[in-house]
Amino acid sequence: MAGEQKKQYGRGAQECQLCGRKQGLVRRYHVNFCRQCFREWAQRLGFKKMN
Ligand SMILES: [Zn+2]
Repeated sequence: MAGEQKKQYGRGAQECQLCGRKQGLVRRYHVNFCRQCFREWAQRLGFKKMN
């Protein structure tokens, strides 16, 4: 018996995980963030330019 294995992740798969925006998504490091959220997120994790 083959059961249905449909996983629904909320509304859509291609949207920012933080604000839900669908424009300018950045798919890196296994995350889906819009450009603005990605920038903040990256800075938090220390992806700043080494100065
Ligand atoms: Zn966002």
